Amino acid sequence: MELPLREELRGIQPYGAPQLDVPVALNVNENPYAPSEDVVADVARSVAEATRSLNRYPDREARALREALAAYLGHGVTADQVWAANGSNEVMLQLLQAFGGPGRTAVSFAPTYSMYPEYARDTATGWVVGHRAEDFSLDVEHAVSVVKEHRPTVVLLPSPNNPTGTALPPDTVGSLAAATAEVGGVLVIDEAYGEFRRAGTPSALELLSATPNLVVSRTMSKAFALAGARLGYLAASTEIVDALRVVRLPYHLSSVTQAVALAALRHSAELLGRVDDLRAERDRTVDWLRAQGHDVADSDANFALFGRFDDRHAVWQGLLDRGVLIRETGPDGWLRVSIGTPEEMAAFRAALVDVTGKGT
Ligand code: PMP
Repeated sequence: MELPLREELRGIQPYGAPQLDVPVALNVNENPYAPSEDVVADVARSVAEATRSLNRYPDREARALREALAAYLGHGVTADQVWAANGSNEVMLQLLQAFGGPGRTAVSFAPTYSMYPEYARDTATGWVVGHRAEDFSLDVEHAVSVVKEHRPTVVLLPSPNNPTGTALPPDTVGSLAAATAEVGGVLVIDEAYGEFRRAGTPSALELLSATPNLVVSRTMSKAFALAGARLGYLAASTEIVDALRVVRLPYHLSSVTQAVALAALRHSAELLGRVDDLRAERDRTVDWLRAQGHDVADSDANFALFGRFDDRHAVWQGLLDRGVLIRETGPDGWLRVSIGTPEEMAAFRAALVDVTGKGT
């Protein structure tokens, strides 16, 4: 029998980068530094403690975790203004569940994170994409005109953007928040890579208290080196958080996840200590790629988008043949490399020189 699959899901493959076992994996913007033995021990102790009450459901409101996340975010954010779920993907899906839906529209600006249209599809929300400028910045006039024309209930904008690495200046966020408020929508600034911003590009958190329709989404997957734990969170008005509490599944965040995230937050100084190293390695990588004659988008994230190649797939495959896995994503001709350890980046550089014949 033919399954009664929703029309829009027919023939669609599950989203995701190839999961290949390679010596140098620089394809999904992970943090290359595994937790230290100290962190491992504290997480293990906390999980053991949580295990003692696994016969009970977890704290549905994740109160202790939200307190700790609010303290980490600062900017006067309170626990009532924080929401957490299994990765920021789930946080943003919940936003679409609450504020999207049939007859409504979500907007973003391409090139951007490829999961956004999936949140829209899965919540039967209309999907409209505007475009970014040639240098991947956002032209405010264009963005505002798209918002005015399509009257979205949700605007999703990553800053820094994936896959380009571009951060949004605060006045752009402010203008878009105002335009979105005028049509009755919420503006979601997805700061999954927020901690990697270069000096001088402030977080949208600074605008939060004065901007009731602003949501700032974050994750522990990148800067906290905790991708495997699946913990994403956001800061917004208490009204927005209360709306998410309506759509979340009961007990969506397991006691184990809450315990792991709380333990990691106790070690935030150490876990975040590597962020500066990664930012420096990112800047070195961008400079090196430019010196090799490649185009590279300015990056405020833990990856760099570079190109342009007539046959980017051949370059991607050539690197893979040499044990280096990067991501074939972004506009035609571009490739994205995540920033790894100095050793991993040396392997990437050697492989790229070998494949392209540049730098020899
Ligand atoms: N937003 C952006 C822009 C991302 O690139 C990613 C992950 N690659 C996410 C959100 C989701 O991350 P997670 O679900 O691990 O928090």
